[in-house]
Amino acid sequence: MTETKQDKPKILMVDDKPENLIVLEKLLAPLNCDLYKATSGNEALSLTLENDFVLALLDVQMPGMDGYEVLEMMSWEERTRHIPVIFITANYADEQHKLKGYEYGAVDYLYKPINETILLGKIKVFLELHEKQMQYKQLQQRYQLILDAAGEGVFGTDTRGVINFINPAGAKMLGYPAEALIGQPFATMLHLNDEQNFSWDNSDFQKTCASGHTYHKGDDNFRRKDSTPLPVEYTASPLHDIHDDYIGTVVVFTDITLRKTVEEQLTHLALYDHLTKLPNRLLFEKTITQTIARARRHNRLMALMFLDLDHFKTINDTLGHDVGDLLLQGVAERLKECVRESDTVARLGGDEFAIILDEVDKIEDAAIIAEKILESLTPPFNLDGHEVFASTSIGIAVYPMSGDTSIALTKNADISMYRAKQQGRNNYRFFTSDMNEQSMQRLNLAHSLRRAVEQDQLYLCYQPKLNLKTGEVTGVEALLRWKHPHLGDIAPAEFIPIAEETGLILTIGEWCLQQVCQQIKTWQTDNIAINRVAVNLSSCQLVQGDLVNLVKTALSDSNLDSSCLELELTETSIMTNPTTSATILQDLHDLGVHISIDDFGTGYSSLGYLKSLPVDSLKIDQSFVHDIAEDPNDAAIVKAIIALAHSMDLTVIAEGVETEAQLQFLDDNHCDQIQGYYFSKPKAAADITDFLVNSAQQDPS
Ligand code: C2E
Ligand code: CA
Ligand code: CA
Repeated sequence: MTETKQDKPKILMVDDKPENLIVLEKLLAPLNCDLYKATSGNEALSLTLENDFVLALLDVQMPGMDGYEVLEMMSWEERTRHIPVIFITANYADEQHKLKGYEYGAVDYLYKPINETILLGKIKVFLELHEKQMQYKQLQQRYQLILDAAGEGVFGTDTRGVINFINPAGAKMLGYPAEALIGQPFATMLHLNDEQNFSWDNSDFQKTCASGHTYHKGDDNFRRKDSTPLPVEYTASPLHDIHDDYIGTVVVFTDITLRKTVEEQLTHLALYDHLTKLPNRLLFEKTITQTIARARRHNRLMALMFLDLDHFKTINDTLGHDVGDLLLQGVAERLKECVRESDTVARLGGDEFAIILDEVDKIEDAAIIAEKILESLTPPFNLDGHEVFASTSIGIAVYPMSGDTSIALTKNADISMYRAKQQGRNNYRFFTSDMNEQSMQRLNLAHSLRRAVEQDQLYLCYQPKLNLKTGEVTGVEALLRWKHPHLGDIAPAEFIPIAEETGLILTIGEWCLQQVCQQIKTWQTDNIAINRVAVNLSSCQLVQGDLVNLVKTALSDSNLDSSCLELELTETSIMTNPTTSATILQDLHDLGVHISIDDFGTGYSSLGYLKSLPVDSLKIDQSFVHDIAEDPNDAAIVKAIIALAHSMDLTVIAEGVETEAQLQFLDDNHCDQIQGYYFSKPKAAADITDFLVNSAQQDPS
C-alpha cells in the first residue's frame, strides 16, 4: 500500500493498562500524528496488519503475549518486519532483557515513568526519517514514471550483466514482456551472437563501464524475442553506490531501423547503377578485391571479363539515347542470365560491363561463359519498336595467371578486350603476357609521339594519282611520316591509332592541313601543275574539334581556292557517327572541298547510304585490288563497285596498284584513276616536284 502525502504518520501505542495509553496519547498530541491504541499483543498485531505504522511504542511487560513475543511475531510478516519499535519498560536495570529486545529488532528503549522531552525527541527522529523515506519513494516513483513513459528503451544490469530492470518501451522493442527479462543475462538474451564467443566480462561494453566510463555504440544489433536483429544505437553508463563502488550499468537504447533503411538506400544509390540496377564501378572494385582474396585463400582460379558493346555509339546517335538506354538494360538482363548467382555483373559506365566469375575450375570455363554471352546477344532486341542488333567484345583475365591483384587483372582484361575489338569485334580474347609487352611498347610510343610533334619529327610524303584514260596526274595524296631519332621510320599504321587514342591526332591533323596548304601554295607559286592534294582525316577529327573552321583557316592562311583540297575519310569513320558526319561533310562540300571515301569495301556501310552524302569519289581498298588478276571473287567485287559508283556519278580510284596485270584489269573495267607503287611510291615534296615536272614533259597534251 502506498502512502500519500496527505496521510498523517501513524503511531501505534501498546500497553495493557488503558490509563498508560491515555497518558501517552496526551504526550504525543503535539506531533500531529494518527495515534492507534492496543491493550494486548493480539490487538497490536492485528492493527499492524491493517495499517502502515511509522513507529510502534510497545510495553514490554504485558499479560499473555509480552512485548518480546509481539516483536518476534512482527518479524515474521513482510508488512510489519520493518516497523521501528521502541520498547517501554520499568525494568531499568535488566540488561539481559534489553539485549533480547535489540536482538528481536527493537530500535530503542524508554523507561517508565516516561520523560516527555526524551520521548518526543526520540519520536521526532523517527518521523523525520519517515519523511525522508517518503520523499525518496516519491522520487523513485517519478523516475519510474519517466522510464515508463520514455520512448527510448532503458534497462539496467548488475556487474555480472544480469538484467535487473527494463522499461516498457525497451521490452516492447525487444518483443518481451518486461518481467521475462528480469534476472536474465544480457549476453544470452539480448546480445546478437554474431561472434560466437561473446563474453560479458571481456566485452568493451562491460570493461568501459567497469572503469567508470560511458560506452556508446552508434550501430549495433540486439536480439529480439523472435531472434531477429533489432538495429540499435545505445549508451551504457556505469552505476555507482554511495561508496562510489561500481554496481551495474544503465543502458539507454533507440531503435534505428528507420535510420538504417535510409542509410541502406543511400548506400544502394552509391553502389548500384541506376539505369541497369547492376553494381557500379565502386562496388565492382570492392567485389573484385574480395573475390581475389577468396580465390587466394582457397587456392582457386577466378576470372575477370571486360565487355564493351560494339558500335554502341552508332546506335545511340542514330536511334537516340532512350533506345540506347533500353539497349543497355536489355544487355544487362541477358548478361545476368549467362552467369551464376555467385558471379557479379557490373556496369562500369557507358557501354562497358564487367563480369567477375567466382570459383572457376579451369580456364575453359571462362571461355564457355564468354561463348554463352556472345550467343545470348545474337537475337535482336526489340526496343521501342526498333529491332536492334548488339554484339560485344570481351577481354578475359584469369587469376592468378593474368595477374594477382585487382589492378593487374583489371588492366589486363582491358588490354585483351581492346585486342578482341581490334580483331573484328563480336569475339573474346584471353590475356596473354605478350599483350603486356605490346601495351608497354604502345605506352612508350605514345610518350615519344608527343615529343615528335614538338620536335618536328613528323613530315609528309606525297603519292600521285593517275587518270587511266589520259595518263595525267590528277593529284597527290599526302601521307604522314615519322622519323624517330632512335627507332627510325615508324609506319602510320603503328602510330596513327596511338595518336587517335591519346587525342594527339587533333594537333597532328591540324598541322597536316596547314602543311599541305602551304605546300600547294609553293607548287602554285613555282608553276607546278598540281590539280588537287588529298589529306587523310581520322574519325576523331570528325567528332571533336571544329574541322570546318580548321579547313577554312588553313585555306585562307595560304590564300588558296578550296577546290585544290581533297579530304579522305574511311567509311568506318563516317559510320561511327553518321549524323554528325553528314552535317560536317555537307559544310565541307559547301565550302568547295572534294570529299573521298577511303578504304571502300572494308566497312559495313552501303552504297545506298553513301548516296545521301555529298561525296565526290570512292577509293577501292587495296585488299581487293591486290588479287583482282587472280581471284575471280575479288575481281567480281571490284567490277560491281566500279559499276555502282558510276551509276551514282562518283569517281572511282583503285589504290595499291602494283602490277601491270592489275592496271590492265582496272583499265578494262573502266576504273577512273589508279594509285600505287606501279606508278609511284609516296615521295618527299621535292621529289614529287621533279616527278610532276618530268611527267608533264612526257605528256604531250
Ligand atoms: P591509306 O589512306 O589507305 O593510304 C594508302 C596506304 O597505302 C599508304 O600507306 C601508302 O603508302 C600505301 N600504298 C600506296 N601504294 C601502295 C602499293 O602499291 N602497295 C602497297 N602495299 N601499299 C601502297 P601508309 O603511308 O603507310 O599509310 C597507312 C595509313 O595510315 C593510310 O592508309 C591512312 O589511313 C593512314 N594515314 C597516313 N597518313 C595519314 C594522315 O596524314 N592522317 C591520317 N589521319 N591518317 C593517315
Ligand atoms: Ca588515304
Ligand atoms: Ca586507302
